[in-house]
Amino acid sequence: MGSEPLVDSFARPITYLRLSVTDRCDLRCTYCMPERMTFLPREDILSIEESYRLARGFMQRGIRRIRLTGGEPLVRRGIVDLLAALGSHIGRELDELTLTTNGTQLANHAEAIAAAGVRRINVSLDTLDRSKFAAIARRDALPQVLEGIAAAKAAGLAVKINTVAQSGVNADELPALMEWAHGEGFDISFIETMPLGTVDHDRASRLLSLSDLRRDLAGRYSLSPSSHRTGGPSRYFEVAETGGRVGFITPMSDNFCDGCNRVRVTATGQLYPCLGGSEAIDLRAAMREGDDSAFDLALDRAMHIKPRRHEFRIDKGNAVGPARHMSVTGG
Ligand code: SAM
Ligand code: SF4
Repeated sequence: MGSEPLVDSFARPITYLRLSVTDRCDLRCTYCMPERMTFLPREDILSIEESYRLARGFMQRGIRRIRLTGGEPLVRRGIVDLLAALGSHIGRELDELTLTTNGTQLANHAEAIAAAGVRRINVSLDTLDRSKFAAIARRDALPQVLEGIAAAKAAGLAVKINTVAQSGVNADELPALMEWAHGEGFDISFIETMPLGTVDHDRASRLLSLSDLRRDLAGRYSLSPSSHRTGGPSRYFEVAETGGRVGFITPMSDNFCDGCNRVRVTATGQLYPCLGGSEAIDLRAAMREGDDSAFDLALDRAMHIKPRRHEFRIDKGNAVGPARHMSVTGG
């Protein structure tokens, strides 16, 4: 495979790959998918070996950070093998290997994740209230998730909590969730709901502008901008009272695309240059041609079509975006 670093047509170096290993999940978060979700055909999903080969192809083009995601990556059979294989590249081609998980399977896997060389993980948690959790995730799994988070901490993993902030759902609990996270020694990022695929409610009605949340938190705590960056889109603030960090991911209210450094690959090997865009390139087909040059050409094409900005917008009160669910592209 070639070795030219990936740079898109807006001169942005692309060094970060989010690789989905499955679109399936053991939860059914209401903002992410409908209760009756249609999943990708199993026969189209890349094997663990193909995912590894694909990741290696990206590393040869200058990808230095990989985040495994989904769906729920820890429900994918063979995930520990993939983590171990990718982990062997840390300190050479890779600066970092990370994972985003809902935490339900973490108690079983935390040790293996740490042994693979992962140092930081993101765990999604929207509430500490068991019945509210069951309503948001449509599964009563909060105790399991908290046990998983404790196991990750005990295994020495740095945990960042990701919280989708929703008006009328968990907005009133967000300061308490932040205090809990900081008390545990975790960073926390709040995320605006993005219009990806249809769900069983109107997303715009629950959209909470994080500019408003930040203003609200700034009225209660002393927030100062932090230079901390993780390679993702979160912009961080230090909170004097808790000694912790809070991040804001604001695709809807404050576009962050200018500094974009990443691309995403679905579990079926479709490369989406932008989470909020609709164009994709079929890397599975390119890989199955057997010839490395087809894969490289496909990456070059992706650099040409990567848009300057995502397509999310609010139109006449409706949140508008691609038809694909977040669980397909990988968060
Ligand atoms: N299942 C894992 C999890 O929940 O962490 C990984 C995949 S999930 C798609 C990744 C992240 O995307 C999670 O933090 C989730 O809360 C977030 N997410 C899902 N759908 C979203 C949406 N429509 N808008 C904003 N964030 C979303
Ligand atoms: Fe599953 Fe993550 Fe989507 Fe929730 S946000 S349904 S845990 S993929």
